[in-house]
Amino acid sequence: MNSRYAKKLHELERRGRLRELAPVKQYDSGSVQYKGKKLLNLSSNDYLGLGQDSELLQGFYLELECGKSGVSGFSAASSRLLTGDSLLAHCLEDELANAYKCESVLLFNSGYHANIGILPALFSKGDLILSDKLNHASIHDGLQLSRADHKRFRHGDYEQLYDLLKKYRKKYDQVVIVSESVFSMDGDEADLGRLIELKHEFDVKIYLDEAHGVGVYGRNGLGKAEEKGVLQDIDFLVGTFGKALASIGAFVCCAKEIHDYLVNHSRSFIFTTGLPPVTVNWNRFVFRHMLGMNRERHHLQQLSTQLRHALREKGIATRGSTNIVPVLIGDDSLAVAQAKKMQEQGYLVLPVRPPTVPEGTARFRFSICANMQWKDLQKLPFQLAAMTPGEKSEK
Ligand code: PMP
Repeated sequence: MNSRYAKKLHELERRGRLRELAPVKQYDSGSVQYKGKKLLNLSSNDYLGLGQDSELLQGFYLELECGKSGVSGFSAASSRLLTGDSLLAHCLEDELANAYKCESVLLFNSGYHANIGILPALFSKGDLILSDKLNHASIHDGLQLSRADHKRFRHGDYEQLYDLLKKYRKKYDQVVIVSESVFSMDGDEADLGRLIELKHEFDVKIYLDEAHGVGVYGRNGLGKAEEKGVLQDIDFLVGTFGKALASIGAFVCCAKEIHDYLVNHSRSFIFTTGLPPVTVNWNRFVFRHMLGMNRERHHLQQLSTQLRHALREKGIATRGSTNIVPVLIGDDSLAVAQAKKMQEQGYLVLPVRPPTVPEGTARFRFSICANMQWKDLQKLPFQLAAMTPGEKSEK
C-alpha cells in the first residue's frame, strides 16, 4: 500500500477528490438505482430521455427484425479504412449532411475521438488555436496533440479574444477559434453572433463543439448554431451521439476537402475500429426521431427555467441559461458531503470537482431531462436551501 499510486489515491481521498465507479441501473422516467436506492437522476446527459424510452427501443428492434435497417452486427471488425466501412455509415453521414445543409459529414467513435483527432490533423506549425478556457478536456487534449500554437482565453471573454486576434492574427497562416456552444459545467452558452463577427473581421475559422446543443436546441434539434441561424458560418461543427441522442459516437460537419483530409490524417479516425453497425443503425434511428421532438425541447426549456427561478427564490445562485443548471459549492469536501445528503433525499447528484472544473468551484450540476416533470423537482430548492450551499444568490 506504499506504492506511488496508493499514496496519490490516498491524497486524493484526503482532499475530497477521489473518483469512484458505482454501477447504475436505469429505469423509465428519469430514475435510476444507485447504491441500492431509487433516485431521480440529475446527473445524466440523456437530455431528451431517449435512453430510457422503451417504446423507442422496441420500435428499433422491430425495424431490425423486419430487416428494414439492414446490417445489425455488433462489430465493424476493423478500421473504416480497412474493411470496417459500411453503406450504413455513409447513409448516416449523408442524412446528417442533409439535415445540417453542409457539404460533408464524417463520423467519429466519440466526441473525445473527434476533438483529439480533428484539431491536430487540421492545425499544425504556423497555425494558432484560440480556445475558451472552459472548453471540454477532449478539446484541451486535442490542443496538446496539435503542433499548432495555442492560447486559451478567459471563459466567454470576447474582448480578450479580440485583443489576441489583433495581436496575433497576422503572425499565423491559419487561426481557429474553438468553443463549446453550451458549456457543460456552467450551463451557459457561447455568443455565436459575436464569434462569427470576429471570424469575418479577422478571417479565422470557427470550430464549434455542440455536444450539449444537439437534440436540445434549434427547430430541428440540430443545436445552438441552428437556433441562432448561423449553421453556414461554422467551419467545423462537432456533434455527439452520447448525450441527447442516447447512443455513442460523434460527427463533424465540414467542407468536402476537410472530410477527405481527415480521412487521410486524423489519427483517432484512422487507427481505430469503426462504430459497430448496430450502433450506426441506432444512431440513424434516433437522429430521425429526434428531429421532430420540439414538444420535448420546449418542455425541457420550461422545466429548466422554472428550476432556475425556484432556486433563485430560495437565495441559491445558479449560472447559465440552459437545461444544465449548476449550483456552486466551492469546497471539494463540502461538495462530496452535500452530494451524499442529496442522495439521501432521493436525487442522484454527483459532486463535480477539479480538474473537471476550476479550483475552488466544486459544484452540483443539475442536468434536467425532458422525461422529468415539475413535481419531480419542486422540492429540490427547499432541500438545497436547507443545506446552505456555498454561493448565495444576489437575487
Ligand atoms: N465535448 C464536450 C463538450 C463534452 O461535454 C463531451 C463529453 N462530456 C465530449 C466532447 C466527449 O464526448 P463523448 O462522450 O462522446 O466522448
